[in-house]
Amino acid sequence: MAQIARRKSVAVNVGGVKVGGANPIVVQSMTNTDTADVTSTVNQVMALAKAGSELVRVTVNTEAAAAAVPKIVDTLNMFGVKVPIVGDFHYNGHLLLKKYPDCARALAKYRINPGNVNIGKKHDDNFRTMIEAAIEYGKPVRIGVNWGSLDSSLLTRMMDANNLLAEPKDARDVTLDAIVTSALENAAAAESYGLPKDRIILSAKVSTVQDLIDCYRSMARQCDYALHLGLTEAGLGAKGIVATTAALSILLQEGIGDTIRASLTPLPGGDRSEEVFVSQQILQSLGIRSFAPQVTSCPGCGRTTSTFFQDMADQIQTYLRERMPVWRAQYEGVEEMKVAVMGCVVNGPGESKHASLGISLPGTFEEPVAPVYVDGRLSTTLRGDAIVAEFIAILNDYVDSHYAVKSEEAVTA
Ligand code: SF4
Repeated sequence: MAQIARRKSVAVNVGGVKVGGANPIVVQSMTNTDTADVTSTVNQVMALAKAGSELVRVTVNTEAAAAAVPKIVDTLNMFGVKVPIVGDFHYNGHLLLKKYPDCARALAKYRINPGNVNIGKKHDDNFRTMIEAAIEYGKPVRIGVNWGSLDSSLLTRMMDANNLLAEPKDARDVTLDAIVTSALENAAAAESYGLPKDRIILSAKVSTVQDLIDCYRSMARQCDYALHLGLTEAGLGAKGIVATTAALSILLQEGIGDTIRASLTPLPGGDRSEEVFVSQQILQSLGIRSFAPQVTSCPGCGRTTSTFFQDMADQIQTYLRERMPVWRAQYEGVEEMKVAVMGCVVNGPGESKHASLGISLPGTFEEPVAPVYVDGRLSTTLRGDAIVAEFIAILNDYVDSHYAVKSEEAVTA
């Protein structure tokens, strides 16, 4: 794994998952079901957890949602799904946490948006009420500032102060300063009410890459709270994935970020778990954490004879992803495996030699055979219609013979 010097932060225990300090960077996600619909929410949380989400956030926006939270957590426990559930509160969190103590107890963390918790009030009573609930129930909080709901009175105050300067900053810089200031001032207020530093995580999310980088660099310089990293409203499809990857990679490379989320807009009928796979892939591509065996495949070119090569790369990737929840539970280090699926012999054997397992399909005008490399050596040559099935059988044998079976304690831990 890559040696990236992590920024020093205070570790926070979120329902048994440690965020910050020297702990691995945590992948989290958020449901998009109606939280009041217990069945749908449980199903989606289970899917996200199966994909590898280590924390799952649900919105707690109504009384029905708050009443549903303990049922969701109980049902997940019944199914043996231990993923901590985080409650996302806006506007009425102070009321819901007071009126629904079972909800306050069942949640592993409260996300508080300081920009909308005290709207129309001169004092931060509502914010304080939520912090007091966290203290009473022994929970951590995330103080999550979002520029779409930035505290307008704070921004006005900072803009006014800026206008009085001999050389005022531009509005963009003042806005970014206000986002960071909102997070830091509210964290200081939470501490002054009695919430210890090891129960506070901060985030300051914006939706453009350069702004996010500037915000987090500034926040990282000014505090040692654990930081939740994410590009808010990243968007659909390739745009969302690329923008999230661009922003998070730069910050992670600088050691900034203790937990991450990819806030992708799913395509209609799309898989919500994609946001988990994207976060995992960012961390794995940077060499920070391994989650699943990596498939190296060439892009294909005029030498590839058909879509067979693309289909095979896709089938192997899908097979690995589907098997990983079982393999991860059974075998030590299987996530480090590297598989190469190449389109012809130009780079195929060379790339295969660098992988745990590699296969090169025949390109145009090449002999119709597929050499398979295992740990850098030519192991066999496949031919005929059953190449995929035979390669998957070799893959299964490789996992069985190369990775130690986990002890019972490790499996139940
Ligand atoms: S490995 Fe072969 S098929 Fe793949 S891109 Fe290179 S030349 Fe083309």
